[in-house]
Amino acid sequence: HLGNETLKAELGRAAWKLFHTTLARFPESASVDERTALAQYLALFARLYPCGECAGHFQKLLAQYPPQTSGRVAASQWGCFVHNLVNERLGKEVFDCMTVGETYKCGCAEEDKKGKG
Ligand code: FAD
Repeated sequence: HLGNETLKAELGRAAWKLFHTTLARFPESASVDERTALAQYLALFARLYPCGECAGHFQKLLAQYPPQTSGRVAASQWGCFVHNLVNERLGKEVFDCMTVGETYKCGCAEEDKKGKG
């Protein structure tokens, strides 16, 4: 069981990293097409998340708190909020959502051009 918990935690850290970085790089003001893409991406992320028990919980969270897709700030704050709900359920500390913008950077060209990377 110990090995399984270790793998589940590693998967979780990798998944949350991609999840928050994706939201932190979402357009500041999203088009209808971009909003649809994000909503579909998140629904499929929750549905196909490889830990079945986790996926079930997360799909319920998404139904209760639908993703905010209007733009980067709303989306990344929503992501921080739902991760905190998972943290609470697992008895972990709550994360300060004021810092998500600085915490999740991608090291990509667009960032460098804007001087934000
Ligand atoms: P993690 O929760 O993995 O967080 C990684 C890092 O992200 C933290 O160190 C911190 O720097 C940062 N962080 C923490 N909170 C936030 C936040 N709110 N916003 C932004 N950044 C933050 N595990 C289970 O045992 N049962 C489950 O049901 C379960 N469901 C999951 C559902 C999903 C969708 C995902 C992605 C993971 C799930 N996990 C579940 C895994 C679990 O959430 C953790 O990833 C795992 O326990 C490792 O925890 P951790 O303490 O290293 O930090």
